[in-house]
Amino acid sequence: MPDQSHVHQTTASVEQRVDAIQAAFDERGMKPGEFIEEFRHLAEEQWVPENGARVVAKAWTDPAFRLRLLANGRDAVTELGLTMPVHHRHLVVLENTPTVHNVICCTLCSCTAFSIIGLPPDWYKDLEYRSRAVRQSRTVLKEMGLDLPAEMEIRVWDTTADTRYMVLPVRPAETTGWSEEKLAKLVTKDSMIGVSRL
Ligand code: FE
Repeated sequence: MPDQSHVHQTTASVEQRVDAIQAAFDERGMKPGEFIEEFRHLAEEQWVPENGARVVAKAWTDPAFRLRLLANGRDAVTELGLTMPVHHRHLVVLENTPTVHNVICCTLCSCTAFSIIGLPPDWYKDLEYRSRAVRQSRTVLKEMGLDLPAEMEIRVWDTTADTRYMVLPVRPAETTGWSEEKLAKLVTKDSMIGVSRL
């Protein structure tokens, strides 16, 4: 058996490894720089709560749209030119009423209908929120500044990979006659998650 104890093994430098990875991308026609830029653009400029706000304002002002939205959220938002990733198979819209309050969470991780209501806030991903929102929802909402009357029913919805939720807030009473554009400006990401009411 040959003595290999003196075989000299060279270790590639970081630069060489980066070059090798870059070459592998190039060989396959992949462009990570462009992908990252495209992703940044999507996240910062297209996945924004203003999308959901438009949906809410439309539902407040167009009763037929509201019904379509409640029946099939994914199809209804498409009418407004909005899109959802393929794996977000269902968008379930939860309508608040004067006596029912809906709130969403993702007990496993941080899923939201992010192309509609925007990317989840940091607190949404915290174990604290994910674990307590379900069991102590009234207390958690109160801690977050939403003190609901004891008689108001709270419904907590746990997001899954393929079913995403958004809350349809109650339209504020003093907004009669407002345009959709003006109404949309009232709607916040928090109100579509259900940790605030308008
Ligand atoms: Fe998740």
